Amino acid sequence: MVDTGFQGGGKQGKSRGKTMVKRRENPDEWRVRGPYSEAVDARPRILFVEDERSISEPFSHALEREGFEAVVAQTAAEALRLADTLDPALVLLDLMLPDGDGRDVCRELRRRSDRPIIMLTARGTETDRIVGLELGADDYVVKPFSGPEVIARIRAVLRRTSGPNGGKESVIRVGELEVDRGARRVTLDGDELELSRKEFDLLAALVERAGRVVRRETLMSEVWDENWFGSTKTLDTHMGWLRRKLGDDPASPRFIHTVRGVGFRFAAPEELAK
Ligand code: CA
Repeated sequence: MVDTGFQGGGKQGKSRGKTMVKRRENPDEWRVRGPYSEAVDARPRILFVEDERSISEPFSHALEREGFEAVVAQTAAEALRLADTLDPALVLLDLMLPDGDGRDVCRELRRRSDRPIIMLTARGTETDRIVGLELGADDYVVKPFSGPEVIARIRAVLRRTSGPNGGKESVIRVGELEVDRGARRVTLDGDELELSRKEFDLLAALVERAGRVVRRETLMSEVWDENWFGSTKTLDTHMGWLRRKLGDDPASPRFIHTVRGVGFRFAAPEELAK
């Protein structure tokens, strides 16, 4: 435990303890935080990775006004470090950074955790959008963006991450698919699918996080073995069977998207509504 000497430190939790260590090392990272940070500990912390102060400063203030805690990282390296030390609820990630490409940061963040990521970029082609999502981002916003628009997206992603589907609600509906976890029953367009135990568990693990990337490691430990270590070949085998039963073509999937080197993403309800 590090004694930071910061006022009110005694009341702060473990993660905030780390925060204060960081504050002391580099106070510049913290210019955004207001003077009443202790009273608003429960605010979701947003790590905003953006080198342009003309964007990061006003938007950070907008986030703070909307009840979030904003922390700015100006480089790729700083983003990775702060994501590890501050455990933000969500990362808002710019594509163009002075020391690297935001896509590499996205890939690396995703390799380390399931934390939600929204990519931010000046480019707006469909290809870029897909690339962002394939890297494991949860959503994508094109610059120039409006504050309220991004804040709405942040809320939506956070809701999706911790909402009813992420919770223990028994029946999950995504598009024409219905997964009843209590009865261990799956219907597609009203027709019941015959799934093996592992296939069901795999599907449930993905559907619970529809719209989000689920890492291979997460699936292995949830569906197979908590202490799993080693090959994930069995995962691919079962995924192949599951896809076949869903009638999903891996080359042009409707439901289960592969995020290469990371894991899989079940389509969000909005995607399936199209
Ligand atoms: Ca930038």
